[in-house]
Amino acid sequence: MLIVMHKEAGDRELDAVIKRIEAHGWEAKPIPGGERTAVGVLRNKGPLDPAMFLDLPGVRDVIPVSKPYKLVSREMRPENTVVRLGRGSDAVEIGGQQLVVMAGPCAVESENQALEIAHAVKEAGARLFRGGAFKPRSSPYSFQGLGLKGLEILAKVREETGLFIVTEATDHEVCDMVEDFTDIIQIGTRNMQNYRLLRRAGQAKKPVLLKRGMWATMDEFLMAAEYIMSEGNDQVMLCERGIRTFTTHSRNTLDANAIPYMRNESHLPIVVDPSHAAGRRDQVIPLARAAAAMGVDALMVEVHTHPEQALSDGPQSLYPEQFHELVTGLRNMNISV
Ligand code: PEP
Ligand code: MN
Repeated sequence: MLIVMHKEAGDRELDAVIKRIEAHGWEAKPIPGGERTAVGVLRNKGPLDPAMFLDLPGVRDVIPVSKPYKLVSREMRPENTVVRLGRGSDAVEIGGQQLVVMAGPCAVESENQALEIAHAVKEAGARLFRGGAFKPRSSPYSFQGLGLKGLEILAKVREETGLFIVTEATDHEVCDMVEDFTDIIQIGTRNMQNYRLLRRAGQAKKPVLLKRGMWATMDEFLMAAEYIMSEGNDQVMLCERGIRTFTTHSRNTLDANAIPYMRNESHLPIVVDPSHAAGRRDQVIPLARAAAAMGVDALMVEVHTHPEQALSDGPQSLYPEQFHELVTGLRNMNISV
């Protein structure tokens, strides 16, 4: 349930509402808005009677929230969430006016590799550098990432290029390390339902990019985001990265339908990863353009200077020239990148 306050309501009226919610043993979550404040009621079991709050001074309306997810829902917060990184002229806003592009290799392989790619993607218009230091690989024999050394390389990339960093936390312990180094914590498709990790990310002081499980329904995805938000982190981004279908002409299928669905259901920024959806280089640019045309807030794209030698996901990694072509194409579509 959502209790919407009058524009003129002050702290005293708000406190009275919070006290009444807490007196029942529920949790009150004030949600400041542009015009007025609302208060979400959490941890209640079953529907509540609006009359319980309508008599309090300063209460304008009481709206039942019909969805199982609450904090992520647009019912709870009508305005879009904007995730902000940095300050001043270098600041990046995901969910703001511009389409933010995150790009880089699947995995950090060496300092030279990371820096070379970072300079190339920055030059083309990327604002964030992506690269895994801890890789969740399907085979235990595949390259697992450079670990802590990889995080140190990412810190160097930020220092040298000014690009913000997004990198994956594969478990609880790794999340402690990643949180110290990164600007955005990525939770991968294979961990979307790792609820302990989601809670840990919810306690982090950094924004979280949550990738949709390759098998997950929208309800499951949004509930996973709810786990993060329920721990107090409201800087969460929803990333569609393709789901498993019966087709064999691509690694996954970009669920384009999910984009307007998420936009309607949630106020959180939407990110699309065309690289993992496609699994092959020739489909990445068209998928990125389609997602951009659908108004997503950010794209996450794999780029490698020598994809044929890449230690992971080479076949889906764009050459820097192709990445440049992708960004130029978006600008030609009148999209501000
Ligand atoms: C990645 O971004 O490199 C990655 C492993 O993505 P996903 O979790 O979507 O497979
Ligand atoms: Mn990858």
